[in-house]
Amino acid sequence: EAKSAGRAHYQLFDEQMQMQVATQLRIENELHRALERKEFRLFFQPIVAAATGQLVSVEALLRWQHPVQGLLSPVEFIPVAEETGLIVPIGTWVIEESCRLAQHWGLLRDTNLPLGVSVNLSPRQLLQSDLVDTVSRLFRTYSFDPGCIEFSFEVTETAVMTDPEAAAMTLQALRDLGARIAIDDFGTGYSSLAYLKQFPVDKLKIDRSFVMGISESELDQAIVRTVTGLGHAMQMVVIAEGVETAEQARILQSLDVDLLQGYFYGRPQPEEQLEALLLNPNQADRAG
Ligand code: C2E
Ligand code: MG
Ligand code: MG
Ligand code: MG
Repeated sequence: EAKSAGRAHYQLFDEQMQMQVATQLRIENELHRALERKEFRLFFQPIVAAATGQLVSVEALLRWQHPVQGLLSPVEFIPVAEETGLIVPIGTWVIEESCRLAQHWGLLRDTNLPLGVSVNLSPRQLLQSDLVDTVSRLFRTYSFDPGCIEFSFEVTETAVMTDPEAAAMTLQALRDLGARIAIDDFGTGYSSLAYLKQFPVDKLKIDRSFVMGISESELDQAIVRTVTGLGHAMQMVVIAEGVETAEQARILQSLDVDLLQGYFYGRPQPEEQLEALLLNPNQADRAG
C-alpha cells in the first residue's frame, strides 16, 4: 500500500520534472527565434523625486510579445535565457534599444534636469567579457548629451558577488564610459559592507520587500532609515522600489529616501505612453 503510494508519488514527481524540462526546452527554442522575429519589447516605469513627485528617471523592463501566449513577463523567461546564455544577445538588444530611446528622449526634453534611463544587467551579462566594448560601441552610435540623459546599469548584490574583483573592474569601466551604477533589490542578497564600500556604486535600490509592510512595520521603517543613512554616507542616491500607496510614499519621504518607484506612480508602460508623460508631465495618470 504505502509502497505503491510512494511509487505513485514518485511517478507524479517524475512527470512534473519531465514537463518542466520540456517547458524549458520549448522556451529555449522559442527564445532563439524571438530575437530574429523582433518579439521583444521594452516597457518603461517612471521613477520620481520623493520630495516633489517629479519624473526624474525611467527603468527599462523587458517583455516578450509571444505569438501565442501574449505578453510575457521577464520572470517567465529570463531564468532560461540566463541558463542558456541567450541573455547575452537579448541583453545587448535591451541596451541598444534603451540607447536609441535615450537619444530620442534627450532631444525631446526641455528641462535642465537630465532624464535617467536605467537598464538591468543579469549576472551572466556582468561576467560577459565584451560587455564594456559593446556598451562603448552603443554609446558612440547613439551619442546622447550627458546633460540630457543619465544612463545607469542596475546589478544585484548576487551578480556582483559571483566574482567581486571582475565585477568591480567592469562596473568601473562602465562608469568611465559615463554610466552610473545602481545596486538593485538591495537587502535581499548577501553583500558585505566591506565590498560595498569598495565598489563604484552610485545608487541603492531598496528592495520592494522592505517597502511592502512599511506602513505597519516599525522594523521595516528602521531598516529603510538605516539603509538610506548608509547610502547617503557613501554619497549614493537611495531609491525605494514597489511603492503602491500614498501612505508608503509619505513614510519613505519622511525617512529621507531620494527617489520612489512603484505602481502608485505608474506601471511599466510602452514607449509611446512614456513619451506622452515626458512631453506633458501634468497629464500623468498617477495610478498607472
Ligand atoms: P527589477 O529590476 O527589480 O524590476 C522591478 C520589478 O518590480 C518589475 O517587474 C516591475 O514591474 C515590478 N514593480 C514595479 N513597481 C511595483 C509595485 O509597486 N508593486 C509590485 N508588486 N511590483 C512592482 P518585471 O518587469 O516583471 O521584472 C522582473 C525582473 O526581471 C526585474 O526586477 C529584473 O530583475 C528582471 N528584468 C527585467 N527586465 C530585464 C532586462 O532587460 N534584462 C535583465 N537581465 N533582467 C531584466
Ligand atoms: Mg531593476
Ligand atoms: Mg529592483
Ligand atoms: Mg526587485
